[in-house]
Amino acid sequence: MDLPRSAIGVVQVNHCDDGSAGPRQWFYDPFLTTPMVGTEHSPDEEPDTDPADAFGALSDPLRIDILRALGDHHREAADERAIGFADLRRRVGVDDSGRFRYHLERLRGNFVEKASDGYRLTFAGAKIVVAILMGTYTHAISKEAVELDSDCFVCDDPAVATYENGLCTVSCANDHLLFRWQVPPTAAATATLPEIVDVAGLLARQGMERTLDGYCPECYHAIESAVITESVETPVFRAQCETCGARLVCPAGYALLVDSRVVALYQRHGHDLHEYYLWDLPFIQERERYTLIEERSACLEIDVSVASETLSVALDETGHVVDYSLHEK
Ligand SMILES: [Zn+2]
Ligand SMILES: [Zn+2]
Repeated sequence: MDLPRSAIGVVQVNHCDDGSAGPRQWFYDPFLTTPMVGTEHSPDEEPDTDPADAFGALSDPLRIDILRALGDHHREAADERAIGFADLRRRVGVDDSGRFRYHLERLRGNFVEKASDGYRLTFAGAKIVVAILMGTYTHAISKEAVELDSDCFVCDDPAVATYENGLCTVSCANDHLLFRWQVPPTAAATATLPEIVDVAGLLARQGMERTLDGYCPECYHAIESAVITESVETPVFRAQCETCGARLVCPAGYALLVDSRVVALYQRHGHDLHEYYLWDLPFIQERERYTLIEERSACLEIDVSVASETLSVALDETGHVVDYSLHEK
């Protein structure tokens, strides 16, 4: 499979025994972007504010304290009221009014706006506060590797989970990558690795849902997806955001995780689809579940079997479901 390299990373593709690139992975390469306040711009347009200038305004610790104080006020205020200059200064604990005003003014525009009743965070300011609270830029957490109650579907070795640099990774001793997704440090700090894997699974499903709805899970710009059936062992679902570079590459069966009829099929037989490890599901990992077809707009059919029922789900070349048929054994 020929996947383009981007400036921010290289898609990892596992190679099958026959040397071809196989889709035995669920790889997501996040790259955070922060939208500019009050502007809507397409990727081709120049943003109104130079990002270096915007982030330069955050270079002083006092300014971070101001953003945090505005965030605290927003959380505690019963309504959407802004906070006055004097109250904000007291909250931050700065006596020198001139010095405080200087730093507050540096935040005005991009991160803080002044209304008639005082100051409040802009959209970008609120995002910065959330990122600080999530520990995105400050918490370097890693966890000891843990064996999961699951085997690698390539070599049958135990599946092992790790958490490092905000990424939850599941692989085996032979380096078969089974699953990878980002989990914020706050969600990982006090969690066990199996719990982190559960959170990663939840976030991955949400990411797939947004991608299929046409929104980049990372930056919310438009994103297009495709099913790749040529030169791969198992058909691949692939989406890459042209704006922030986030990309999602996985076996095409992952697109069915958020399909209501597939979820309902499992429910009908007393199973919760979301209790399984994603990479363990037969309609994701078993090549024989996939059939290439050429019917109207469909290019691929995937069989989802539970007990005596098989739901055949047809996908078009963008990975969207276009048809179903249900069979009894
Ligand atoms: Zn393996
Ligand atoms: Zn994006």
